[in-house]
Amino acid sequence: MKCSCGDRAVYSRRYSGQIFCENCFIEYFEKKVWETIRKKDMINVGDRICVALSGGKDSTVLLHVLKKIFPDDEISIQALAVDEGIEGYRNHGIENAKRVCGELSVSLRISYFEEKVDQTLDVMVTVGERNACTYCGVFRRRILNEEAISLGVEKIATGHNLDDEVQAIIMNYMVGDINRLRRLSGNTESHQLVKRIKPLSRIPEKEIMLYAILNKLDVSRDECPYAHDNVRSKVREFLNSLETRSPGIKFQIASGWEKLNLAYQKQGNALGNCSRCSQPAAQKICRACELSEEIKIKMRGS
Ligand code: SF4
Ligand code: ZN
Repeated sequence: MKCSCGDRAVYSRRYSGQIFCENCFIEYFEKKVWETIRKKDMINVGDRICVALSGGKDSTVLLHVLKKIFPDDEISIQALAVDEGIEGYRNHGIENAKRVCGELSVSLRISYFEEKVDQTLDVMVTVGERNACTYCGVFRRRILNEEAISLGVEKIATGHNLDDEVQAIIMNYMVGDINRLRRLSGNTESHQLVKRIKPLSRIPEKEIMLYAILNKLDVSRDECPYAHDNVRSKVREFLNSLETRSPGIKFQIASGWEKLNLAYQKQGNALGNCSRCSQPAAQKICRACELSEEIKIKMRGS
């Protein structure tokens, strides 16, 4: 198989029928990230951006591409890693994040669940009754926001890819959570929330992995020990089998959600504030306060 430029092909994309050699794929990938950023007006000259860096493939590729496509005098980039306290897993990612930031001369702040919310995720899972990903998602979002404010950045860039986005869309449809569906856009509903951007959100996970391999990026491939406990892994399997039978279906789901989201936005979507911690909240008490309280009660009783 040959690429249209005549070079040896490294990738054949089923949903579009395109065939790429190494150079053409890398060029296409970076252009696609640039177009996603431009189409959604994610980044402007002068922005201070914080990349949420886990050391895994998505966030590592995101940091590399942003550093490559934006000159240092156009935007400033810092990185922030959150160590949830998952024994034998997150420490490898954090080591990777340190090395990547050293190579790219990006400053890195590391924030720990144990310091910020008093417990590691491992302890929360042991004493609490909820799924690890529930605690992880709620507290990580809170910590990222607080740290981004303290770093003085305008935007938090996350490495969410097309697969992550489509899984989240389906999971929120399943339970009819319109508020979360709206929030997937990253648009802020409160001046206390730092805007979130997802420059890789229109790129399939396997293309991100291919970009990492072709660029010889050393990324952590460890899988979180809690990843199999969740509904997300089942939704992921379902979507992958659907994509095999109907190539391009993931893009269609993402486009459908974008249309709905435009309609939601017209209705307005302001958040209130938590009566305990004053952070933005969809309910009277925010989710982080609710979960912290639950864990405290469990710890007192154990
Ligand atoms: Fe957190 Fe769940 Fe992801 Fe593990 S799989 S890092 S617990 S969200
Ligand atoms: Zn609260």
